[in-house]
Parts: sequence; C-alpha cells; structure tokens
Amino acid sequence: MTLKLFNTLTREKEEFKPLEEGKVTFYSCGQTIYDDLHIGNAKAYTAWDTLTRYLRWKGYTVRHVQNITDVGHLTDDGDQGEDKVEKRAKELGLEPMELVEDQIERYFEDTKALNVKRQDIVPRATGHINEMITYIQHIINNGYAYEVDGNIYFDVEAFAEDYPYGEMAKKDIEQLKEEARSRVEPDENKKNQFDFALWLNAEGTDHAMKWHAHFTIEGEEVYSTGYPGWHLECSIMSQKYLGDEFDIHAGGKDHIFPHHPNERAQAFAATGKGQARYWIHNEFINIEGEKMSKSEGNFYTVRELLEKGFSGDAIRLYLISTHYRSETDFSLEGLEKAEKELKRVRRTVEKVGYMEEPEGKHSFGEPGEYEGLIGDFEEAMDDDLNTAKAKQVLMKAVNEANSMLEDGDQPAVDYSNALIEMFDVLGVDVRPQASDSESGMADLLMELRDEAREQEDWDTSDMIRDRLEELGFEVEDTDEGSRWLK
Ligand code: AMP
Ligand code: ZN
Repeated sequence: MTLKLFNTLTREKEEFKPLEEGKVTFYSCGQTIYDDLHIGNAKAYTAWDTLTRYLRWKGYTVRHVQNITDVGHLTDDGDQGEDKVEKRAKELGLEPMELVEDQIERYFEDTKALNVKRQDIVPRATGHINEMITYIQHIINNGYAYEVDGNIYFDVEAFAEDYPYGEMAKKDIEQLKEEARSRVEPDENKKNQFDFALWLNAEGTDHAMKWHAHFTIEGEEVYSTGYPGWHLECSIMSQKYLGDEFDIHAGGKDHIFPHHPNERAQAFAATGKGQARYWIHNEFINIEGEKMSKSEGNFYTVRELLEKGFSGDAIRLYLISTHYRSETDFSLEGLEKAEKELKRVRRTVEKVGYMEEPEGKHSFGEPGEYEGLIGDFEEAMDDDLNTAKAKQVLMKAVNEANSMLEDGDQPAVDYSNALIEMFDVLGVDVRPQASDSESGMADLLMELRDEAREQEDWDTSDMIRDRLEELGFEVEDTDEGSRWLK
C-alpha cells in the first residue's frame, strides 16, 4: 500500500515516492524558542512525529530534521519589529542565549511528555551563521539580491522572472503588488515592499545578537555587522543536512505564505534546487471556537495542561483524534474525554494481557488473524495520514475485544500487542501503567471503606484509610462523599 500526502504545491493528494527508494528525507520547521510550547505548536510537532513514526513502521529509513529558531524571527513576521528572542530576554533581564538554553530544556521536556521522538538533527540558527553568509553571497552572485546600507534584500521580481515564486500560496506578482500597496509603514529601503530581508544591518544598534559579515557585490566589498532574516535558516539547514533536493517539508498553515515560498525562493536562487517535492501543512487549533490568543486568555501551554494533571499520552491521543489538516477545536472537556478513552484502552490491554516487548512490525498473530485490523489501520494512515480514521479503527478493535471479554472469551495476547504497536505509531503508549493499577486499587479500597462506613464499622474504615495513606493516598470526606488524592 502506498502513502498519499496532500501536497500544498499542487493542492492534490499525491502518491509519495521518495527520491531514493526506501529512504525518506524530511524537514519540519521548528519552534522559535522564547516561550513554552503551546497546544497549537504541539499539534504541528506531534503530526510530524507521527509521520516519521509511520514511515519507519512502513519500513523506510527516515532522516528527520527539525530546526530551532534562536535568532532572526521578528515580532511582526516581516522585517520590522524586534527579534522575538531578544525582546523576551530583555524583559527577563537575561542574555538571549540564557533564555534560549532554558527554553530548549523546557521544550524537550514538553515534547518528550507528548512522546515526540527527538528528531535526528535539531539544528539551531545561531550555529549556522557562516553558512548563511556564504548562501547570501550565492544569491547575490546569481542576481537575486541587492544591498542598501548594509542590508541585503531578496529581489522577488527578478527571481519571479526565472522561477515560480507565488506557486505555493497561489499568488502572482500583481496580487503581491496590490497587497504591498496596503502596507501601512512602507520600508524605504526595499525596491518592492514584498521583497524580504536576507541580512539586516545592526551596526551601531544595541542589538545583542549580531555577527560580522562580508559580501562582494558587483566588485565592491560590503562589510555589515548584523543578523539574518528569518526565512534564511531553514533553506540552509534543510539543504545542508538533507541535500539540495529532499522529500518532504512540513510546517503550519501560516507558513504557506510567506515563510515557505521565501524559503523555497532562496533555495532556488542559491542552488537552483527548490528543496522538497512534497510540502505539507497542518491546520490550526482553536480554543473553544476562537482563535488561540494570549491576550484573550484562551491559551494553553502543554506544561500547564500537564500541571493540571492531564497525561502526555492523553494529550497526544486528543491531538491525533483529528486529522492534521482539520481545524481542531480544543477544550478541557475534550481532553478529559481523551483521558477516559486512554484508560479504557489500557484496561482492555491489561485484561487481554500483552508481551512487554513485542518484536516490531507484524510480529504478532497468526497470518490472517489480525490482517483486517492492520490493513484498515494502514489504509487510513496511507490516506494523507488520517489519524482520526486510524484511531477509529483501533477503538473499534478495543470494543470488539471488550465484547469478547464480556462474552467470556479471551482474545489472544497478540490482539493487545497489535493495539500497542499501532497506537505507538500514533505516539500513544497504551500499555497499562503502574499508576493506573494503583488508582484502580485505591478505588477498590475506597469502595470497601464506604461500605464499612455505611455499616458504621469505624475500625475497618479507619484501618483502610491508614493503609491508603501509607500507600500515598490522602483520603478526603466531604458532603458529596469520600475521595482520594494522590
Ligand atoms: P511559532 O512558534 O509561532 O513559530 O509556531 C511554531 C509552529 O507551530 C509553526 O509550525 C506554526 O505553524 C505552529 N502553530 C502555531 N500556532 C498554531 C496553532 N494554533 N495551531 C496549530 N499549529 C500552530
Ligand atoms: Zn522554516
């Protein structure tokens, strides 16, 4: 069976054929590292992790590169405004790299909680400034950039004469000109307002992150102490680690314009090759019907959700319950539902029994026994990574196992192993957790205690409470009844 991916370049679901048989080269745009991971970011990164897991499950060797932006992303997403990292560092009284170190650690803690496997290479923009300077020189040499006061801009009009620029966003130059006319504060340095910065001169400013650069432009030497434009890093870091042409490039739908067309234009302008063949984009998460925004207060970081007691597995289950290209409407009730669903799957797996380490793909079952389940799962995933459908297939299997158990039949252990393996492809660990059986035991003890209390058997009731407390559960008696707290 062949995977199909919706390619934003063609707006069609296309059969995925890697450049080299059996190997996949994959780049996804990563986090600008000044703040904690929010649930929207998590939708993007878990989707790309699921794609990687799925490709590996299908037998491909995958190299997945996902960058970290630690310089150059400005507050207005254009070439004006402050560097996001520098701005936040200033507010906190930190060096930009102090903030970056701290945020990277938190970022990996949060993504790990969501079972996102660390990508094969996680390059940082600040580690590639030399390559960026050389790359800009290639773009200048090829006639697609110009310099004004030490700033280097990409000449979109010149580029569009030779290459398709607006292809991905379905915008032509006339339309871009029209849009640029409405820009409130035009940038006097630019030939056209839709040109974008490759390098910004920061000589004599208090910009903390700046580097010495030297360019040769029409035989003249230009020295400029500055910093790179935001789009530049991804062109370079993707091509450096994956080749000038590679297979898949991913990002959020906000990248359909301008980030990805600009990345691609730079790549063509410097190397003659336009990076990836398949460009894929995730839809956004809304919060209870509204756009996620900090100022509106409808905003959740992953850390916050974990602190509220939700498990990373449940958050991941919740995220894969909608397709990556469908808008997700996030709510805490939805997440609570996912938590219950996860418990149900784990209970089934526990009742059926499972092997601690199943030996990888299709190691379970007699041929034919679970082929229907595996086939349906693969069919759903092959259809542009339809995790929502794939999850339905697996939940149906859980229901079937439960019906068998209710009828007094014991499904084979392989049934559980198949579920564990396919949920793992979706990034959800459905193996029973010690904490689940502990809480199950606490529930049972509470039931016994309630019974004892009903019969006014205070000795037994107190004994059970003491035992629960020894095991780390605090018992609380309220008007509505008794409950335990871990
Ligand atoms: P940012 O930190 O804003 O650069 O975003 C990092 C990644 O998360 C990008 O790929 C964005 O497209 C993606 N992203 C940001 N907000 C959301 C959202 N609400 N829903 C889904 N993806 C998002
Ligand atoms: Zn990027």
